[in-house]
Amino acid sequence: MRVLIVEDERRLALSLAKGLTAEGFAVDVVHDGLEGLHQAGQSAYDLVILDIMLPGMNGYRVCSTLRAAGNDVPILMLTAKDGEYDEAEGLDTGADDYLTKPFSYVVLLARVRALVRRRGQGASPVLRAGSLTVDRGARRVARDGAAVALTAKEFAVLEQLALRAGDVVSKAEILEHVWDFAYEGDPNIVEVYVSTLRRKLGAGLIETVRGAGYRLVTRA
Ligand code: CA
Repeated sequence: MRVLIVEDERRLALSLAKGLTAEGFAVDVVHDGLEGLHQAGQSAYDLVILDIMLPGMNGYRVCSTLRAAGNDVPILMLTAKDGEYDEAEGLDTGADDYLTKPFSYVVLLARVRALVRRRGQGASPVLRAGSLTVDRGARRVARDGAAVALTAKEFAVLEQLALRAGDVVSKAEILEHVWDFAYEGDPNIVEVYVSTLRRKLGAGLIETVRGAGYRLVTRA
């Protein structure tokens, strides 16, 4: 899952980015509203965390401009102080949720996960494909009921396949959602993760579709 943070308080932006990265999100950070607007239109984000008071263009305008352009990415707005900015206004401009500073990281993470999930497969946090269950709420994976321990990045790759179980997901799509724009390494990193997932989850679950990508088998 890929997140864009638009926040001019650099320390806050950095700590959010660090925390979310540790949870397996791919995170991009910009510190200016106009840059945020531009960047949000460039990549396939699963969520935008948007501050309101920003240089360049304020968060309300960034949000309403994105919506006017037909961009329906989930947006979590950060308001500076309770009551100082109108939360209803944030929601009016098309934000999906808001959080008042200062907030606890745990609360932020819960909201982020809920918003990202809502976009995916309705309310249920558990994705199923045959004998495999991927619990996006608890970040747990099991095959035939037996828990499989995955790193945050391995989980993120599997999540992309599980969200579209039975369909081919290209390497580029996985890269785009799991790695951030600072990643300039070898796109074949995806292959490395898929082979680790195969080793950990057992054979017959992830098919390679030559020249197209990978498919999570729904009857394995
Ligand atoms: Ca600000």
